[in-house]
Amino acid sequence: MGKKIIKCSQCDQEFETGFDYRMHWETHLDDYFKKIKGVAIPPKN
Ligand SMILES: [Zn+2]
Repeated sequence: MGKKIIKCSQCDQEFETGFDYRMHWETHLDDYFKKIKGVAIPPKN
């Protein structure tokens, strides 16, 4: 017992280590940046 479970705030998936969680999170980052590009604000100047 005493396992530390890290829960992903994006999809509620659970991980036993920070490493697993971090690797998983990068998949969300990809989606995040794609969304940002999809609604990109035209640069001023
Ligand atoms: Zn997730």
